[in-house]
Amino acid sequence: MGAFLASWPQLMAELLDRHPDLTDPRVRQAMLAVPRHEFVPPQWAGQAYVDEALPLGRGQTVSQPYVVAWMTQWLEIKPGDRVLEIGTGSGYQTAVLAQLAGEVFSIELDPQLADSARRTLDRLGLSGVHLRVGDGARGWTESAPFQAILLTCAPAQLPSALLAQLADGGRLVAPCGPMGSQELRRYRRNGDHVTVERGMAVRFVPLRQPGEITRDVPG
Ligand code: SAH
Repeated sequence: MGAFLASWPQLMAELLDRHPDLTDPRVRQAMLAVPRHEFVPPQWAGQAYVDEALPLGRGQTVSQPYVVAWMTQWLEIKPGDRVLEIGTGSGYQTAVLAQLAGEVFSIELDPQLADSARRTLDRLGLSGVHLRVGDGARGWTESAPFQAILLTCAPAQLPSALLAQLADGGRLVAPCGPMGSQELRRYRRNGDHVTVERGMAVRFVPLRQPGEITRDVPG
């Protein structure tokens, strides 16, 4: 494992190099600063630099590195931005966002996952990250507005509270559509006007209602 740990940024660089549409050098730097193997369950650490989603336990998944980088690029985060993430999961995407933003606010419905993400993020010494257990569909009112909002779970319908917490000029990226035919969408607020753009096809776990947390899910 020692040699593997030493060479992980090289493995991530090779993975990113296979995607010519990842053009933002700041996003590349952010991806090369976060050790993905620290966020996946130990039995999957050897697969951390393969370009695939991995099980993170509790029936949830850590997104494919390419998709993490692509969504992050689409958010157009600027230094000092306040970013809201719905679906902390392992905390991997949170850590990537924290490299680029001023502050990251991330909400996770499952207390067990939130706990484990908090421990990983603390261990890596990341600053400017705020975690909360709760229903992300309601957003984080006290810390709004946000220049960027990212959903890493797919809502049946975009929760209106989230658009309401988007700053003027802000971007919201979310997987939309039913399981099996989701696509990324980017909403951009200009005053009272909101525009929508369509992005790549993706597969995300659904945004769940409070009370829907599955207990004792294997994997
Ligand atoms: N971004 C994560 C991947 C998350 S998978 C990572 O990099 O690891 C999606 C996550 O959304 C799961 O952890 C799931 O528990 C969470 N989730 C589902 N519904 C939610 C809701 N209503 N509010 C907050 N989190 C939710």
